[in-house]
Amino acid sequence: MEVVAFSAPVKRIMAVIEQAWRRPFYPIHWGKDLKQIHELVRNGEYYRIPVIRKRDLSQHWGELMEYGDFTDVVSSSGTTGRPVDLPVHRLQELVWVDCVSRVLTELGARPGDRLLHLLSNNDMFTLGPLVLQAAKKVGLGPFRCSPQRVRRIFDVVHYHQPAFVVGNPVVMLNLAEEQGHNFPDPECLPDYAYFGACGSFDADNQLTPVAQRVKDLWGLKETLNEYGCSEVGSIGHECLSHAGFHINDDAVYVELIDPDSGMPVPPGQPGEVVVTSLSMPRGFLAVRYATGDIASWMDYRPCACGRSTPRMGAIIGRIDHQLKIQGQTVFPDLIFDVLGEFPEVSDALVVRYPDPVLGHNAEVWIGYDTSANLNEHVSAAMLRRLAVSPHVRSVPIDLIRKIKAEKMASGNGVKVPRLVDLPQHVEAYL
Ligand SMILES: [Zn+2]
Repeated sequence: MEVVAFSAPVKRIMAVIEQAWRRPFYPIHWGKDLKQIHELVRNGEYYRIPVIRKRDLSQHWGELMEYGDFTDVVSSSGTTGRPVDLPVHRLQELVWVDCVSRVLTELGARPGDRLLHLLSNNDMFTLGPLVLQAAKKVGLGPFRCSPQRVRRIFDVVHYHQPAFVVGNPVVMLNLAEEQGHNFPDPECLPDYAYFGACGSFDADNQLTPVAQRVKDLWGLKETLNEYGCSEVGSIGHECLSHAGFHINDDAVYVELIDPDSGMPVPPGQPGEVVVTSLSMPRGFLAVRYATGDIASWMDYRPCACGRSTPRMGAIIGRIDHQLKIQGQTVFPDLIFDVLGEFPEVSDALVVRYPDPVLGHNAEVWIGYDTSANLNEHVSAAMLRRLAVSPHVRSVPIDLIRKIKAEKMASGNGVKVPRLVDLPQHVEAYL
């Protein structure tokens, strides 16, 4: 990849640091005085300021957050201890809504158009309410439908024919597959999709197998993916050139780091997404917030669409989901990309379990209505694509669904789990 010189927005970062300094957590966390911090930023050594992680948000809530004139609270799951409820200030929310609305306008939405809104608006999910507000900002008429209320979705499609849909591609695929012949014809369904809450393209900017199947079954003409997290809002979105996520560089500054060393990764290499908020005010003012997500690359070259904002490649995994298989790091997402090549696999799960020798071990479970031969084919495909293959096991499909449902009930009820940590050895579940 050709390397393009890119410099951090020094003045804006300094302004954010000065604000962050007033929150008791940061000066202690940084262990330096303000002058030293400024020097690091000016000298291009911003990466030497320690990152902040979700556990810090939980442990130091009182020294980090400001209620301000908050108009919403977003919550993020996945920590023990104090729940991470983040106040979203009035103007902060407007910035977030604006960033989300860019996906809708890029898709071609205009006032008077109709939107099938399939994202959850529940209390542990941030994107649903933001999309609703973004639709209002653009002038799109939203029809809010829970993905579980299939009859209502079909009625909205039949009677109102929305041209746009916002949804999680995994949920949209389940909907189409479970309904089979009852699913409406593509010509009745929306033409343009905003895929949220889940990745829909890979490190080569190609649709994932799941997203491709959704595109085919729904008869979509165009799809765009957006990426963000509750702590910092929308981070970026695809443009119609499908060249990665354009970073919302007016709202956030993004770095990719090696999670082990904390150093910036070489150009074009995957790394953990670290975000600094650039717009203020913020209930949580993020200075080098390490998201735990691994992105495949950053590209600072101008895009074919004409924008010159940095672009970030697909999210290929989470640092806490890295699997060690025969000494090699493998991300579950890449395993699911391989499984997507096998339409016979109706459901699948990666399970991680304690192992007396290795510490932990992982294997891939695929639905039962398959032959033993298929296990070998899947293993061979993994070896080709990933250079190693975890053990592939056929299990009853009901077991996969039961474990997923249990995991989903303990999470935010929105994201469908694909990696599950089992407390006991796999043999205990079979
Ligand atoms: Zn572009």
